[in-house]
This record gives sequence, C-alpha cells and structure tokens, in this order.
Amino acid sequence: DAPLLEVKNLETAFDIDGEFYNAVDKVSFAVKPRQIVGVVGESGCGKSVMSLSVMQLLPKGVGKIRGGEIIFEGVHLEKMSEKEMNKIRGRDISMIFQEPMTSMNPVFTIGFQLQEVLFNHTKISKAEARQKSVALLKSVGISRPEKIVDEYPHQLSGGMRQRVMIAMAIANQPKLLIADEPTTALDVTVQAQILDLLKSIQEVNDMSVIMITHDLGVVAEMCDEVIVMYAGRIVERADVDTLFYNPKHPYTELMMGAIPKMDEEKEELSSIKGIVPSLKNMPATGCRFANRCPKAMPECTSITPQLGEVEQGHEVACILYEASMPKEGVKA
Ligand code: SF4
Ligand code: MG
Repeated sequence: DAPLLEVKNLETAFDIDGEFYNAVDKVSFAVKPRQIVGVVGESGCGKSVMSLSVMQLLPKGVGKIRGGEIIFEGVHLEKMSEKEMNKIRGRDISMIFQEPMTSMNPVFTIGFQLQEVLFNHTKISKAEARQKSVALLKSVGISRPEKIVDEYPHQLSGGMRQRVMIAMAIANQPKLLIADEPTTALDVTVQAQILDLLKSIQEVNDMSVIMITHDLGVVAEMCDEVIVMYAGRIVERADVDTLFYNPKHPYTELMMGAIPKMDEEKEELSSIKGIVPSLKNMPATGCRFANRCPKAMPECTSITPQLGEVEQGHEVACILYEASMPKEGVKA
C-alpha cells in the first residue's frame, strides 16, 4: 500500500526568547491506509508539535515548520495556503484532543457545533444536518441523541464530551484521524470505552489513526505500529509486537519496565530517572538521551545516532547498534 501520509525530515521550531529551536528535529515516518500508528514518549518529546505540524495548527509567530515535507495523498501540506488547508482539515484529516472542553464552544449546543462541521464541507439543508447530527451522536454510542443534540457541552460528562468530539471529527469521514491523548483526562472505565469506540470507528470507516499517547496500555490495545519519540527525535520504530517483545533502544526498554502490572496502580513513564532536556538545553552533538541512559558510553555525547534499520521494519537510533552509526560523509 502507498502511504496515506508521509512525513520526511520534518523540522518544527519554536521561538524561545527570540531564537528558534527545533521541537521536532528531522522526523520521518509514514502512515499507511487503515493503519493505527502510535506515537509515544514523555511530555515534551515533540509528539503534539509533530501532529500540530501535520495539521498546520502551530501557534502563529511562535512555532514554524522550517524544513522537511508533509505529504498527504501526494499533496504537500507544508506548501498549502491557510485557505487550502481549511478544506483539508475536518474533511480529510481530523484531530481530537485530550480535553474536549477546549475545542468546543460553551455557548452553542452540541447539535449546532456538529452542524457547523458538516456545513463547512458539504452542501446540505438544515434539516438534513440536524438529522445527520443525531445519527452521528448515535454512532458514537450516545443514548438519547435527540435530546443531547440540543444540550450544551457543560451538561455532558467528560466521556460524553469526548464522544461528541469524536462525532465531530468523523462527521465528514476523514481518511486520517489524529488523536492526541484522547483518553488521558478520563477515568479508567471510560477510557476503555472510548478506545473501543475509536477502534470500531476506525474499522467501519477504514480510517488511518495517529494515536499520540504516553500510555503504553493504549498502544498495546490499539496500535499496529509504534513510533517512540525522545527530545524531538524518533528513537525507535517497529510494529507493536516487536516493540513490546523486542525493544532495542534503552529509552524504550526503560519505558517497558515502567508498565504497571495488571493489579497495580497506574504509574506512567515517571519511573525513568531525570527529565527530558528543554529545547534551549539540547546537547549540540551526540545522543539526546545520554544524560539519562543507563547504557551510555563516552562516545554517546559525540556521535549522533541515526535512525537505522536493525531488522526488517524495525528502526533504532542508538549507537549500540551498527545501523545507527552515522554513515561516512553524513554530518552528525
Ligand atoms: Fe544510550 Fe548511547 Fe544509545 Fe543514546 S546512543 S541510547 S546514550 S547507549
Ligand atoms: Mg502533548
């Protein structure tokens, strides 16, 4: 299958005190049709910035794409005007976020907001739009959709609001859904329900999904392929089974060790000692994980590991592996 989305050498920079620093540093990956790709890593590793770059929703004047390509169905999104991008957003690519309240308007009813999404991309009558809104709410598992359609966001529970957000995101049957921590704000039971819902929608609509999460349980449950990001770079990429049973990058290995047992309280990735370096304090050369890596060697601060294939379909950026050594002539 030809990829639906291809990201090549993406560099997205943020302005900090008048200087731009790469929050996403030469990231490349692809998403195939109907594939669910997980993007994992601690917060501050560039996961959200990467997805906002794809959507062209970076905060104006603060964040900018300064290199690379974002190709969706053969079209270069990084070259699109705001007007062209508005046509693609919500129609071909949609996004859902952690806290639905921030992306819903508190003064309009659920039905009004759903209809807006429909009107943006299709010519339908008001009556049809209302009918379709009710059907959409039903399709995301909302009982009594005829009643909910006239309610306001604050009248709904967090789980219901996330269902409404999903309804809005899939209203125009996008080919790609980007879900940024879609269940993080919800309690565990509701989380599981929302994941089930996303999975069934993905199957029914033949959608591709980029699932951004710091929760490896979500990855195990949902994803076909996984990208591990650390400090703005991809450090490992593999299919989900390979990543769980045969992780190669020390960061991934440590994350795996942080998976709680079934009966334990949920702990996240916090058990890795130390913190992700801030954009201003990124080491200029070498591996960005070096100051936290239990396997670090002296060379790790001078040689910059390259993402290289250690076995078919499994890429790692760590100089413990020959495939990650910079090639002759490639500047580290
Ligand atoms: Fe650790 Fe060195 Fe590998 Fe980085 S390159 S992950 S510091 S062993
Ligand atoms: Mg984030």
